[in-house]
Amino acid sequence: MKIISTVRELKEYLKNINLSVGFQGNQSIGFVPTMGALHEGHISLIKKAKEQNDFVVVSIFLNPTQFLKGEDLDKYPKKEVADTKLCKLSGVDVLFFPDVDDIYTKDEASILAPKARGFVLEGESRPGHFNGVLTVVMKLLNIVNPTRAYFGKKDAQQLNLISLMVRDFFMDVEIVPVDTVREKDGLALSSRNAYLSKEEREEALKIATSLRNATAMVMRGVLDSKEITSKMREILSPMHIFYVEILNREFNQISHVEIGNTVILVEVRVGTTRLLDNIWL
Ligand code: AMP
Repeated sequence: MKIISTVRELKEYLKNINLSVGFQGNQSIGFVPTMGALHEGHISLIKKAKEQNDFVVVSIFLNPTQFLKGEDLDKYPKKEVADTKLCKLSGVDVLFFPDVDDIYTKDEASILAPKARGFVLEGESRPGHFNGVLTVVMKLLNIVNPTRAYFGKKDAQQLNLISLMVRDFFMDVEIVPVDTVREKDGLALSSRNAYLSKEEREEALKIATSLRNATAMVMRGVLDSKEITSKMREILSPMHIFYVEILNREFNQISHVEIGNTVILVEVRVGTTRLLDNIWL
């Protein structure tokens, strides 16, 4: 596995792989952008990228522009050594570890998330967060120029906005959604789970319980969104709830679940930790 830390070196390296011994030209490149502190969720993205491409690039970049003032940028878990080992074991070809100064300059152009979709749900409580996400994803996609890029369904709003950006800017990359990986007890894996105390982790299990309950209600034929979300709120209480929403795959509110076209999304705060999860029905 090659470890690269500058944009210039990575671009040069990727330009040359098609010319290297053993490569046959026009290699497909799978790209997995992450912020590090890798877990099985990230690994499943890497595995899918390996299955579908000749060459896999993973980036680890703690993107400052997607954190608002006072958020957890400084305390976000950093595990460079373990992350490198995991990437190597997972068969990653290139690990890209850029510095902030190499990615950002001052007073630069940036991407704005659309008003209607980028400033609701997570974007409502974190205004500007998705501008930072879209800007860094645009930069990384332009640096790597991958055939396919892999994003978790766990961050459903992020996945939706990135798919729109790629469509709206006529970008030549396939965005591949990957299912959420969970602990045995249902808790969705997240780098932020490391912040949870034992009691908070116990409390956080209510998120998966509320989503499981919603699925069970739908299976019993209850499709009314209000009925489902109010039961979910009951299960999640007394945690601070940012939102519980039932949307279609275009991210519009729907009054009734449409099987095959619905996402149920939850975001709560457990202690000081923000956790999100969702289920696609
Ligand atoms: P992050 O490092 O948190 O920015 O996440 C990098 C990528 O991994 C994003 O596309 C996430 O949606 C995805 N991801 C995070 N957690 C999970 C999970 N539990 N299952 C699947 N994908 C995940």
